Amino acid sequence: MYNVVIARYGEIGVKGKNRYIFEDKLVKNIRNSLKKLGKLNVYKQYGRIYIDVEEYDYESIIEEARKVFGIVSLSPAVKFENNYEKLKEVCLELLKDKMEFEDVETFKVESKRTDKTFRMTSLEMSRDIGGYLLSEIGGDLKVDVRTPQVKVEAELREEACVAYLERIAGYGGLPLGTNGKGMVLLSGGIDSPVAGWMVAKRGVDLELMHYHSYPFTSERSKEKVEELARILSTYCGKLRMHSVNLLPIQKEINEHCREEEMTIISRRFMMKIAQKVAISKGCNALVTGESIGQVASQTIQGLTVTNASVDIPVFRPLIAMDKSEIVDIAKKIGTFETSIIPEEDCCTVFLPKKPVTKPKLEKIMLSEQNLDVEKLIDEAIENMEVVDITL
Ligand code: ATP
Ligand code: MG
Repeated sequence: MYNVVIARYGEIGVKGKNRYIFEDKLVKNIRNSLKKLGKLNVYKQYGRIYIDVEEYDYESIIEEARKVFGIVSLSPAVKFENNYEKLKEVCLELLKDKMEFEDVETFKVESKRTDKTFRMTSLEMSRDIGGYLLSEIGGDLKVDVRTPQVKVEAELREEACVAYLERIAGYGGLPLGTNGKGMVLLSGGIDSPVAGWMVAKRGVDLELMHYHSYPFTSERSKEKVEELARILSTYCGKLRMHSVNLLPIQKEINEHCREEEMTIISRRFMMKIAQKVAISKGCNALVTGESIGQVASQTIQGLTVTNASVDIPVFRPLIAMDKSEIVDIAKKIGTFETSIIPEEDCCTVFLPKKPVTKPKLEKIMLSEQNLDVEKLIDEAIENMEVVDITL
C-alpha cells in the first residue's frame, strides 16, 4: 500500500542561504543512485524528499537510497491529500497489514501537525488515533508509550497527510559533490577503504590511487583492490582508479638508501606521486588510512616525515581510531570480507627487517639526495594505468 518513500536529511538543513544547493544535489544524487531501478520521481517538498514508489519494489529502493550520503533516515509511507479522517483509516490499514505477518501486542501513535490551524494538537491527535486503532482492532492489543513493538507515525501537513511504521537509518553526512574532491591512497587493506568512505560521507568526491609492485605483486591483488573500489562505488557512483607500479622506485631505494629507510622513503614517494596526480585532476586533498602507532611507519615521527613530503592537505580520518573500531565500520560498509582476503601488498616487497620507527626528516631527505626523485616520480606517472570502476 506504500506509495512513497520519505528521505529525511539532517545537517544540510542548517546551511542557511546555501541550503537549496545541498538539497538539489541530494535530490540529484538520489535520482542517480536509483537510475538502475527505473525512472523514479524524486522531489523535494517542505524540507524533505519524497520518492514515488507506487509501481516499484520499495525495499530495493530503500536499499539503494540508504547509501546516498546526506540521508539520515528513510520510511516507506502512504501519502495522500490533507484529510484527517482518511489519516486515521490509513493508520488502521497499516497496523492491520503489519499484524497479518507479525504478532503485535503493543503499539503507540506518534503524531505531527505542521498545519497549526488544525483543531487538535499533536498529542490530542495521537490519543484520538490510538483510541480509534484500539477500538477497531480490539483483542489483546495495548498501547505502550515507552517500548512499543510498533510505532505508528501520523503526520498532518499543509501539503499532505503521511503515515508510516518504520524508519530505516541512513548514514547521514553531506551530499557527495558538495565538498570538493579527494585522492584516496587505496591499498588492499582494511583501513584505506574505510578512510575513503568516511571522507566521501562528508560530501567529498573521490578519486583513487593504488600502488603495486607487479610482477612481485600478483594480478589477483590488483583485482582485489578493484573489488574494494567497486564496493566504494556503490556509495560514490563511478570512480576512477589510478594504478602506479612502484617497483622501479623500490629498486632504486633498495640500491641507494639504507635498508631500514625503505618503508618510509617509499611512503614519501607514494604521497608525492599521489599529490602530483591529485593536483592535475583538480583534487583538493589526499586521503589515507593511517592511524597513530598502528605500524612502524605510523609512529608520530613516521607520520611527520610522511606528511612533510607533500604540500596539499592530507586527510586521515582514522588517525585516532582503534583497529577494532575501524573493523566495525569496514563490516558495516561491506569492505571487510574483501579486505581480509590474503594478498601481497607492494609494501611487503623489500620489507626491511627493522624499519626505522623514529625517522628524522633531515636524515631521510639526505638519503633521498641519492635518488633522482623528480625523474622517478615522472616516470612512474607516465606508466600509470587508469580504470573506471562502475558497478
Ligand atoms: P591499509 O589497511 O589501508 O592497507 P595499513 O595499516 O596496512 O593500511 P600501511 O600499509 O602503512 O597501513 O599504509 C598506510 C596508508 O598508506 C594506507 O591506509 C593507504 O592509505 C596508504 N597505502 C599503503 N599501501 C598502499 C598501496 N599499495 N596503494 C595505495 N595506498 C597505499
Ligand atoms: Mg596496507
